[in-house]
Amino acid sequence: MEPKKLLVVDLEATCWERGAHVQEQMETIEIGALLVDPSGGVPTREFQCFVRPSRFPSLSAFCTQLTSIRQEDVDAAEPFGAAFEAFLGWLGEPRGVRFASWGDYDRRQLVRDCELSGVPYPFLDDTLNLKHICCPKFGMKPGGMAQALARAGLALDGTHHRALDDARNILRIAERAFEGRLDLLMACPPSPPPELRPRPSRPGSGHAFGP
Ligand code: AMP
Ligand code: MG
Repeated sequence: MEPKKLLVVDLEATCWERGAHVQEQMETIEIGALLVDPSGGVPTREFQCFVRPSRFPSLSAFCTQLTSIRQEDVDAAEPFGAAFEAFLGWLGEPRGVRFASWGDYDRRQLVRDCELSGVPYPFLDDTLNLKHICCPKFGMKPGGMAQALARAGLALDGTHHRALDDARNILRIAERAFEGRLDLLMACPPSPPPELRPRPSRPGSGHAFGP
């Protein structure tokens, strides 16, 4: 079997200002992804598309301001089902990749979008949570991508909160964290989802794992 490739995914989604924001109502509006050969033998391939949201087709002013994604970008886009099909067409065999993102948000968002559109979530449960893997390498607690870039001594390239630019910056962080040895990143065990992640022990709590 061919060695697995690294799939770095970043999504942008509908959002609203504090107080009006409901995480469960969020829908993907942009998919950005990089398909990386960890041995460096095959050049990295890139994917970007906008997605038309169905629950709230009108973007909030807050969302457009945060992401720079305009109403006309999503109006002209396919709904999630067709956009995701195009993404999978670009990707090829989903079992040949390890899904990687900054934190667990992107995986959870994709699961939600797949459910809403009635399409199967195609990725294996061997996700790499790059926030949790990379931040300790820079001596920092898991934090935002911009913070990690700064900590790694890297300037933010492109536009923050745009899916493809974020994915590129996330890959740069991972490359810096592993000093270019992405094969070592690929050797990391799967990152547990948040509900299964060991909690830091509190003094006097007696054990290192939460419920
Ligand atoms: P990111 O990949 O960091 O650009 O974030 C992905 C999505 O999370 C964005 O498209 C927004 O829907 C949401 N998001 C990120 N940061 C914020 C924020 N500060 N306030 C509200 N929503 C946010
Ligand atoms: Mg992003």
